[in-house]
Amino acid sequence: MHGLPALAGVSPFGVRVTPRLVGVGRRGHVALTFDDGPDPVSTPEILGALDELGWQATFFMLGDMVRRAPLLAREVAAAGHEIAVHGDEHRNMLRRTPGGAERDVARAYDTIAAATGVEPRWFRPPFGILSFSSLRAARRHGMATVLWTTWGRDWRREATPDSVVVDVTRRYVDGGTVLLHDSDCESYPGSWKSTLGALPRLAEEFAARGLAVGPVGAHGIERTRAFTYPR
Ligand SMILES: [Zn+2]
Repeated sequence: MHGLPALAGVSPFGVRVTPRLVGVGRRGHVALTFDDGPDPVSTPEILGALDELGWQATFFMLGDMVRRAPLLAREVAAAGHEIAVHGDEHRNMLRRTPGGAERDVARAYDTIAAATGVEPRWFRPPFGILSFSSLRAARRHGMATVLWTTWGRDWRREATPDSVVVDVTRRYVDGGTVLLHDSDCESYPGSWKSTLGALPRLAEEFAARGLAVGPVGAHGIERTRAFTYPR
């Protein structure tokens, strides 16, 4: 259900996938990101675990979810986490008209900014599927697009805390961007419990590798041109 971006390459519609686009940042640092929330059932649990670990992360929110739980969205920001935009509805941007994609990004941005009181600086489209219209809309709103270098595959029915840790650490971690989910609205019901269970174990793994954890904004990614076009 999610496409895994390579560390470098060209996507079918011509956007060059650069290390910057997938979130390769400074060595010794891991950018921790959560998609699909905020969710009244699971997001508070994730926030509690992050608080215990002393971690701050980036939350790529859905406008649709924020309208259902605006106070929770504000709580995420108040806890010191970075607020980012995943889209308004969780749909493939390539299946939308250009105008539809632009309206989706604009509505998500406005909803999320109004609820949280912050202006999001990062955009990650649903499924990581890039479309010119959504990238352009993101840039017009001052957002740079960032995907991920590794993920926990935590949306699956088969996922366990252990499998999430194994999946996260199997790919580009040092200087990488980790994708997890703080809501199961697009995943197997209850799958967020595997994510939650994985967090303390990930802390051990990262500590053993000498890696600090933080939001995308602290990852040292240049925001001016998070994507480029092939020459
Ligand atoms: Zn998503």
